[in-house]
Amino acid sequence: MSQFWSPLVRTLTPYVPGEQPKLSNLIKLNTNENPYGPSPKVLQAMQGELGDTLRLYPDPNGDHLKAAIAAYHGVDKSQVFLGNGSDEVLAHAFAALLKHDAPLLFPDISYSFYPVYCGLYGIDYRLVPLTADFAINIDDYDQPCGAIIFPNPNAPTAKLLSVEAVETLLQRHPQQVVLVDEAYIDFGGVSAIALVNRYPNLLVVQTLSKSRSLAGLRVGFAIGHADLIEALERVKNSFNSYPLDKAALAGAAASFADEAYFQQTCRAIIATREHLSQAMEQMGFEVLPSAANFIFARHPDYDAAQLAAALRERSIIVRHFKQNRIDQFLRISIGTDKECAALIEALHALLSLSV
Ligand code: PMP
Repeated sequence: MSQFWSPLVRTLTPYVPGEQPKLSNLIKLNTNENPYGPSPKVLQAMQGELGDTLRLYPDPNGDHLKAAIAAYHGVDKSQVFLGNGSDEVLAHAFAALLKHDAPLLFPDISYSFYPVYCGLYGIDYRLVPLTADFAINIDDYDQPCGAIIFPNPNAPTAKLLSVEAVETLLQRHPQQVVLVDEAYIDFGGVSAIALVNRYPNLLVVQTLSKSRSLAGLRVGFAIGHADLIEALERVKNSFNSYPLDKAALAGAAASFADEAYFQQTCRAIIATREHLSQAMEQMGFEVLPSAANFIFARHPDYDAAQLAAALRERSIIVRHFKQNRIDQFLRISIGTDKECAALIEALHALLSLSV
């Protein structure tokens, strides 16, 4: 820490991203990436951008992609906001919509980036504990607040809040923005996007990183009332930032034009998730019901940190959080059937050997 740092920077606790190992022979089940590549149509569309026109700036409004997302989700183009991954969309939302005199509410166990944004933007927040079975209970949000944010399905628990409960929450807080972070909604959940035209306080954020297998391209978006979108655009334009580069704009739009590939890969991941959950339950794990492309599981007889380390020795990386209440859980991203079969085999070996 140097004397040149501003007081704010001195107080920040930065986010620690999941490991991106340099070795290629690992089974990587630690950062919820999609094991299947993006649609071939995405790659084709991107290649079309890699010519002479790269000398030109991209469309600062990303109009073509906004139109594609708006058409896909049945909203107006003025209701779509774009960012470099949903992390950037969330960052702008924290600055534009979630800072008020009353505290921002979010679950005590949720996406660990939220407190980081609060630190960055000086937002007062209050953690709302999950229930004993790791669920969000909307009654617990009946308290004075400036805004509410939560992931749905929640991360890292993978548990889904029904869209009916989301709607009740919106009705109970008509004066507050309710931001639903739907990074994992395509793996069995029902999106709240259908509610945006009835609830001007709803902002839904989604990403192309998971269900569309484009984590490396960095594309996320928000959908809400045009008034909320205008606030996000105002913050973005204050950074003079382009939403996305040319290749990302083209690739992302192409992804929405290949519905068959999207459905097929989501279905495959869900099927593998159900198979892995069952296999782990048979080994004595408690697996929380998952509506995401990962599962959250603990074993009553084995220490999670030791299990994670032992798996790593066998070249399988999963995620372990040293956080109160969840430090006995492992978060395991759903890989291909072959990768999950290797995980099951490794767990069998470890559990009978005892770690
Ligand atoms: N929200 C949640 C709940 C997440 O887990 C993630 C992924 N770490 C993100 C948002 C951000 O994803 P991306 O920036 O790749 O869109």
